[in-house]
Amino acid sequence: MHKYVAEREEQAIVKRREISRDVWRQRMGEIKAHPDTKVIVRKDLPEPWVYVEQMFPDIARDIAKAVVYKNENTAFLENIGIPTDAGGVFVRPANAIIVGYNEKETPTDVVIVHEMLHYASKLMGGNFASFEAEENFAFSNSIKYLELRGMSREAICNDYMLPYYWSLMAARIVNEPGRGRGGLTKDEKEQAKAMAQDECKLMIRQALDRDAFDDPVEEEPNRFDMI
Ligand SMILES: [Zn+2]
Repeated sequence: MHKYVAEREEQAIVKRREISRDVWRQRMGEIKAHPDTKVIVRKDLPEPWVYVEQMFPDIARDIAKAVVYKNENTAFLENIGIPTDAGGVFVRPANAIIVGYNEKETPTDVVIVHEMLHYASKLMGGNFASFEAEENFAFSNSIKYLELRGMSREAICNDYMLPYYWSLMAARIVNEPGRGRGGLTKDEKEQAKAMAQDECKLMIRQALDRDAFDDPVEEEPNRFDMI
């Protein structure tokens, strides 16, 4: 979902995406057959489904049928190449949402909303130019869900969004032209955090205070009134 560390991880993700469909079919078979795997369907936990269906009514029928596989056995998931550091993944070639155990940090329904938005993006033909654009889509469209769930804006920023945006900004700093090699300095870490917080706050405002960003629409005078 998020928390991937900078570019190295992004490259790893691209590599994972290149794994053949056959390999994914085999992995999904293993997940489905594993004794610790719990299948979650719409009726078990409707909120994420309802939220995404209402947001994108054109694909609601497909979203309704989405199945989530939850497995708390992180060793097993890691062993078959499913990262668990973020709480969940959407496996694009398999159209599968997998929740790896991360209950304390990110509740299951929140992980499902985020991954389901990646699925929605695929269903709508979304073919974002970058991993970053795809993540922006999932993060920005899930903010409202977290607010409806009663999470404060501060918690949405710090607990949900910041780990990913922090790593994004850190990567930006590390890749700045002219910067030498080496890890982030203490100052750069602070800078990355401040940049990430600004980005999260802006996205939250755009998602929740939509009115504040829209220009007031001047009503066109009806020209027939002026005859
Ligand atoms: Zn994501």
